[in-house]
Amino acid sequence: MKVIKFGGSSLSSGEQLKKVFDIVQSDPSRKVVVVSAPGKRSADDIKITDLLIGCAERFIREGAADELVGVIEDRFASLAADLGVPAEIAVQIRKNILDVLNGDRSNPDRYMEAVKASGEDNNARLVAAYFQQQGLEASYVNPGEAGLIVSDEPGNAQVLPESYEKLYELRERPGIVVFPGFFGYNSQGDVVTFSRSGSDITGSILANAIKAELYENFTDVDAVYSVNPNIVKNPREIRELTYREMRELAYAGFAVFHDEALIPAFRAGIPVQIKNTNNPSAPGTRIVQERASTNGPVIGIASDTGFCSIYVSKYLMNREVGFGRKLLHILEDFGLSYEHVPSGIDDLSVIIRQSQLDSEKEKAIMDRFKQELQVDEIKITRDLALIMIVGEGMRKRVGTMARAANAFGRAGVNLEMINQGSSEVSMMFGVKEPGEKAAVHALYDEFFSSVSV
Ligand code: ASP
Repeated sequence: MKVIKFGGSSLSSGEQLKKVFDIVQSDPSRKVVVVSAPGKRSADDIKITDLLIGCAERFIREGAADELVGVIEDRFASLAADLGVPAEIAVQIRKNILDVLNGDRSNPDRYMEAVKASGEDNNARLVAAYFQQQGLEASYVNPGEAGLIVSDEPGNAQVLPESYEKLYELRERPGIVVFPGFFGYNSQGDVVTFSRSGSDITGSILANAIKAELYENFTDVDAVYSVNPNIVKNPREIRELTYREMRELAYAGFAVFHDEALIPAFRAGIPVQIKNTNNPSAPGTRIVQERASTNGPVIGIASDTGFCSIYVSKYLMNREVGFGRKLLHILEDFGLSYEHVPSGIDDLSVIIRQSQLDSEKEKAIMDRFKQELQVDEIKITRDLALIMIVGEGMRKRVGTMARAANAFGRAGVNLEMINQGSSEVSMMFGVKEPGEKAAVHALYDEFFSSVSV
C-alpha cells in the first residue's frame, strides 16, 4: 500500500485534478490520497489557505468579508464545474465554508484554526466526489473520525503517539481513502493545524500508521535540485538522498518538502518519493535511510538569508563552568531558538533567525549579557546568509573543506564563520547577505561541474 499526497498546485484547477486522477488510478496500490487546499493557478494567484486566513481576519475585525468569501466560493464552484461533479457538491462546500466563517469567534485562535482547515477539508470532499464520479471507489475520511489526534498547539500541532494504532484501521476501508491534509483534532475535539505546508506532515503520519511501502509526494517540480534553481540555472537533479541529507537541505531553504514531515516516515523507514504531477514519468527524487555514494562528497547546496549572529567574548571563558548554560538560559527567557553555536576558547557566537529579534529584545539581551555574564565584548551582526553544503559522502573524503574555502576565495566572498562540528553530513558557512549568490555559484562549480551523478 502507498500513501500519495498532492500539493496545492496539483489541485488548483480542473485540468490539474484530471492529472491527479490519472496518477491515482494508474497504480492500484495507491490507497490513501492526501490533499492540500487548492493552490495557486499562476504565479500571481492566491492560495485558498491565504484567502481563508484573510477572510477570518476580516470576520474577527468586522464580522463579514463578502468579497473575499465570494472569491473562495467561486474558486470551489469553478473547480466543481470543470470536473462535472453533481451541483449539490458545490452547494455543500459553500454552506460548509459559510458555517465555519460564521462560527464562534470568542476564541480567535480556535476560530482561525477551523477556518484554515476548511480549505483542505472541502477539497478532500470535492476530490472524493470527483473520483467516485469517474467510477473509482473512493471516500472522504475526516481526520477526527479516523483518529488523527494532535497536541493543542495552534498552527504548530504535533501528532500524538496514540493516533497511530487507530489510523492503522484505514487499511481496512474499502476503496481509496481521500484524506484532508494540514490538520488533526486535539483531545477535546477542536481542529488544530500543523505548521504551514503541513499536508506533507499528514501524508507522512498516514504512511507510518498504515505501514505503507512508499510515501509519494506529488508537487510541481521534477525533482529535488542540488541547488536553488533561482540561483543556478538548470541545476542537477538529485535522484536519491538520505533523510539526514534532506533534513539539512530543507532547513536552509529547500522548500520542496516540509522538514517536519520526514520524521514519521523516517521512524518507520518508509522511503519518500518526490514526483511531479505535471510530469509523472520523470523519475523524481527518492529519500531513503541509506544510499550508495555514487556522487562526490556533496549532494546539495542550500542557502538562506535573514540570520543574525550574537557574538560574545570573555577572557578565560573556557574555564568558567556554566557560562554556556547561563547564556542560553537568557535566550530561552526571551523565547529565542538558535540555529548554530560556533565557539572558540574565549568567544562564542549564537546564530539565530533575525525575525525573532527586534531592537527592544536586542537591547534587553545585551543588558543581561553584560550584567549577568560580565562579558568583555558583545557584537550583533545582522543580515547574514547561511550556506550549507550537504552530503553523506563528505564523511569519508578528505579535503572537502579546503575545496569549499577555495571556492569562497575565488568568489571574493569573505567568510564570517564556519561550522563543521557535530554534523557529519554538512558544513555551514556564514557570509554577509550580498555575497550569498556568488558564493553559491562558486560552490556549485566546485562540487558539481565535473562529477558524474
Ligand atoms: N494549505 C496549507 C498551506 O497553504 C497546507 C498545505 O498546503 O500543505 O500551508
